[in-house]
Amino acid sequence: MKYYPYPCKRCGACCRHVDLIAEMKTFDRGDGICKHLAADNLCEIYAERPPLCNGEYVYKKFFADKTVEEFHEMISQLCKKIREAEA
Ligand code: SF4
Ligand code: SF4
Repeated sequence: MKYYPYPCKRCGACCRHVDLIAEMKTFDRGDGICKHLAADNLCEIYAERPPLCNGEYVYKKFFADKTVEEFHEMISQLCKKIREAEA
């Protein structure tokens, strides 16, 4: 299945809760926010970001049994939940 990028809104919500993901704990600057999240909600290390921040990697590694559309819908629901929890 050919992957195409998730239409991220660049709200930064997922990068403000890296404490919720065990594998991302070393990125936590101490308050749950990733130490590489810039003020404009962009990733300072985008080209070298960890695999779990890479949608294509996550899709191919863990969700290859789904269509890209299904995977993106799942991500969309997660994004919504994180933003609602922040509100
Ligand atoms: S929460 Fe979703 S929309 Fe917001 S930055 Fe993360 S992936 Fe993009
Ligand atoms: S490394 Fe970049 S993409 Fe990953 S959580 Fe941190 S700021 Fe977000």
